[in-house]
Amino acid sequence: MRNPHAGQPFTTSDVEIAEALLDVSIPTLMLSLVHMSGDPALIRGALRPAGLFLNEVQGYMSEDDKAAARALALRVIADYRDRGCPEPAPVDGALLKEMMEWLVCEPVPDEYVPMVLEEMELDGTDGRAVRDGPYADASAAARRDFPVVVIGCGESGLLAGIRLLEAGIPFTIVEKNAGPGGTWYQNTYPGARVDVGNHFYCYSFEPTDQWTHFFAEQPELQAYFQRVMDDRGVTPHVRWQTEVVAATWDEAAATWDVRTRAADGTESTLRARAVISAVGQLDRPHIPPIDGRESFAGNAFHSARWDHSVDLRGRRVGLIGAGASGFQIAPAIAEDVEHLTVFQRTAQWMFPNPNYHEAVGPGVQWALRHLPFYGRWYRFLLFWPGCDKGLAAARVDPDYPDQQRAVSEINELTRLVFTEWITSQVGDDTELADKVVPDYPATGKRTLQDNGSWLKTLTRDDVDLVRTPIDHLTPDAVVTADGTHHHVDVIVYATGFRAGDLLWPMTVTGRDGRDLRGQWGERPAAHLGITVPGFPNFFCMYGPGTNLASGGSLIFHSECQMRYIAGCLEHLITDNHRSMEPRQDVTDEWVRRSQAEMRTLVWAHPSIEHSFYKNSHGEVYTLSPWRLVDYWAWTRVVDPDDFVFR
Ligand code: NAP
Repeated sequence: MRNPHAGQPFTTSDVEIAEALLDVSIPTLMLSLVHMSGDPALIRGALRPAGLFLNEVQGYMSEDDKAAARALALRVIADYRDRGCPEPAPVDGALLKEMMEWLVCEPVPDEYVPMVLEEMELDGTDGRAVRDGPYADASAAARRDFPVVVIGCGESGLLAGIRLLEAGIPFTIVEKNAGPGGTWYQNTYPGARVDVGNHFYCYSFEPTDQWTHFFAEQPELQAYFQRVMDDRGVTPHVRWQTEVVAATWDEAAATWDVRTRAADGTESTLRARAVISAVGQLDRPHIPPIDGRESFAGNAFHSARWDHSVDLRGRRVGLIGAGASGFQIAPAIAEDVEHLTVFQRTAQWMFPNPNYHEAVGPGVQWALRHLPFYGRWYRFLLFWPGCDKGLAAARVDPDYPDQQRAVSEINELTRLVFTEWITSQVGDDTELADKVVPDYPATGKRTLQDNGSWLKTLTRDDVDLVRTPIDHLTPDAVVTADGTHHHVDVIVYATGFRAGDLLWPMTVTGRDGRDLRGQWGERPAAHLGITVPGFPNFFCMYGPGTNLASGGSLIFHSECQMRYIAGCLEHLITDNHRSMEPRQDVTDEWVRRSQAEMRTLVWAHPSIEHSFYKNSHGEVYTLSPWRLVDYWAWTRVVDPDDFVFR
């Protein structure tokens, strides 16, 4: 069978190929040429990328060089076509590393190479699948006897379903929504789109030629998860519009009783040998307790519960909160409403991304579909700049002066670049500049990607940005601390999520009657973010300490976590254990190390006043402080010594 990433054969004419090549990423194209021709000399000459930056997919090549590369490519591609598009021969490891380094213009350390190769799947093999290897020893009957409940059918719950199907383990996914996608099902607000490049923000084992935008909008993302779910046969295993209310461990039976409530209120109980929580961190809306909130007489709703029955046209809208969600909402609605007032407590750092709203042109789609491994190298091109570099840049230099402004030299440099991007858009409007340039170290909160639409919106006559704190609401106004009444007809709360209240509001009761949220309090913690002492056979995906603030993608993290969970299930099933839970001392040490590491990073820095990453003590238990390559390595294989088996 042909390697699925080798591209589908084609008979496209020279003229059409030349047309397609006008669109594509030239450095990515040139690596595909090496596969097609088997000739590494193609990348050993003068034509090469000059540098690397997130979303800079042309490697800063000059127009002349790009034109020369296209002419070369046309000859190689036409020859490949005329030879009938044969499947390219495998490339040896040394050349692959050379190709990686050529593309990203810097050394790729050896420790990263296996992770990158697995992520790229150049051999056509899904290296994180469980179907062939680890379950070979467990009899099919033992697996069938091991039902699992997965809570949630977002990207991680769906992934769990895919892997459990591969493993032959029966499972039920319980999902409170009526369809898959989680955050991409719920966030239907105008302008909702992903800000991690889609050709990387998708499962590693799925082709990437279908995206219509480089940063897809919500409907396309939701449709993606729906399609993957249907294609992979997960759909019959899901109970829709059903919420898990409680999960209780039965020590005598070594099972979980998972109590569910359907949309009509009917409650029932599922028995499972293991539970996988895949509920995410950004699910339950946070609406701040502003005085007089209940008195507001107009329409009011949260960004993740958008009320599409409310027509905003001709209305005065107050947008309370402008983080990642508000930042997308304001440009999307400003044109329609009569007046928009944005209430923003803290200004946001942002950096330029010219591709942010761009459609994937037909040339790129053709290349993704037909040119061998183009999509795979493009994935790596997106992955690499966000892989651990942001973490290094987030490190606090304790000796750096004026830490309210920047926490290190590189952080100061980042501040200058970001500030230049912001101020270049506001022109002479110093009043606006004062409002939109943040007064805390760059990247201290989640950094946003911008194509100019946010500041363009703020400079409209019918849009105001209010930075004065909100004091209270009246039936028809938001009243700020200076006494100003901002009259509005509709309030949109883009005020984020209860990120620290993991698994809220369900009740999870473990061994000896332990309550999970009681145990966690404001310091949720799990070994590797996955398993919790006292909660046997209970596994978290996107659990405590696994959110990412400096790059990567949660889908990558989920694939790591699910491989680890599958390894745990393998131990339980093949060795016929009743239960497993992480050792308390191992977990304590993990938490101690994670917290010590986190305290060296900007997200926990005292200069960051308001951040959903922090608890009320200013500690960060939601984020991962670790390099992706470390987390990948630590979750590859389960160390049984970390666990108590019963
Ligand atoms: P958020 O980043 O937590 O932003 C919430 C906004 O509400 C902030 O402006 C915050 O101000 C404000 N706020 C909260 N409580 C307030 C209070 N008591 N008084 C005044 N203002 C208050 O929430 P979000 O925008 O929904 O984004 C959450 C996360 O979702 C993001 O970090 C990201 O991970 C994800 N997301 C991703 C995308 C994407 O991929 N494009 C889009 C949307 C969301 P402060 O900043 O002062 O706290």
